[in-house]
Amino acid sequence: MAISPIFSRLAQWISSVLYPRLCPICGERVEGETDYHRPRYICKHCIEMLPRTEQAAERGNSTEDIFHHHPQFATGAAFLFYTKDDTIRTVVHTFKYRRQPEIAYQLAHTAATDFLQSDFFDEIDCIIPVPLHKKRFRSRGYNQSEYIAQALSDVTGIPMDTSHLTRERNNPQQALKSGTERKQNVEGIFAVNHPEELYRKHILLVDDVLTTGSTLLSAITTLEVCKGAKFSVFVLAKAR
Ligand SMILES: [Zn+2]
Repeated sequence: MAISPIFSRLAQWISSVLYPRLCPICGERVEGETDYHRPRYICKHCIEMLPRTEQAAERGNSTEDIFHHHPQFATGAAFLFYTKDDTIRTVVHTFKYRRQPEIAYQLAHTAATDFLQSDFFDEIDCIIPVPLHKKRFRSRGYNQSEYIAQALSDVTGIPMDTSHLTRERNNPQQALKSGTERKQNVEGIFAVNHPEELYRKHILLVDDVLTTGSTLLSAITTLEVCKGAKFSVFVLAKAR
């Protein structure tokens, strides 16, 4: 049975009084919706102030060195710089660990709108978020990369695909590891179901933060069984 719009608005109002949304950057209360009708989480001022890579303005977008040697790699882009100051770290921490994945959606929606001005999405067939292991998914309650991929899909109309790539191993948190340990840590952690369904597809892999790139590279290596496939990468933020 559909809930009456009046009750739904009342429920929204009660929830906004009991649990006000606070911008993770300036701490001010945030109200209202975005122009695509989802609750706003980062205030307009703060989202404009984030350190953008400006790759959206470049044709042919810049690619990441770590993927370059891969023969099936096409292109890569990041929306923001993951800088040493606390701002972007706090934002990522909030959408990743503090149950506010809508922040990731809002950032990715803004990013996708920017990147539509470039040719970045032109040849992409499907968008695959880097999956979490089912145990981590259960404890966190969501996959933040799926929110990012969903926003890209909503803006571009390119379908999101969460059925082919799975995470088989619940590897320890990357943040705790050194560079070499990270590489060993991600070997063979992914698997592909029905690779034949992705033959010759141009796949956009999506993750929240790019540091060493080892997780994304491991996903690409696993997806190599999809004959003739090409891979591009999109992340919300990359380390400088
Ligand atoms: Zn703010």
